[in-house]
Amino acid sequence: MSSDYGREKQDFHLNGGRCRYCAKNAPPTVDYKDVNNLQKFMSPQGKLFDRKRLGNCAKHQRAVARAVKRARFLGLLRYSGKQ
Ligand SMILES: [Zn+2]
Repeated sequence: MSSDYGREKQDFHLNGGRCRYCAKNAPPTVDYKDVNNLQKFMSPQGKLFDRKRLGNCAKHQRAVARAVKRARFLGLLRYSGKQ
């Protein structure tokens, strides 16, 4: 039907996937102390977005989830709701 989908798919492969931690000039690890960056993965209610929305690969989505949970435990991020 529409040809947009095919073009999008091509761009996807040219960029080497959508995962920001797999990108060439990406930070090598997900840092739980980097709160400003971790907040981009969360809704205003403090929920972690799913992998499809973030575009992360499975490996790095697990790392992000771990980092968010660690940051919550340390009090750097909220568990739920607005602070
Ligand atoms: Zn990745």
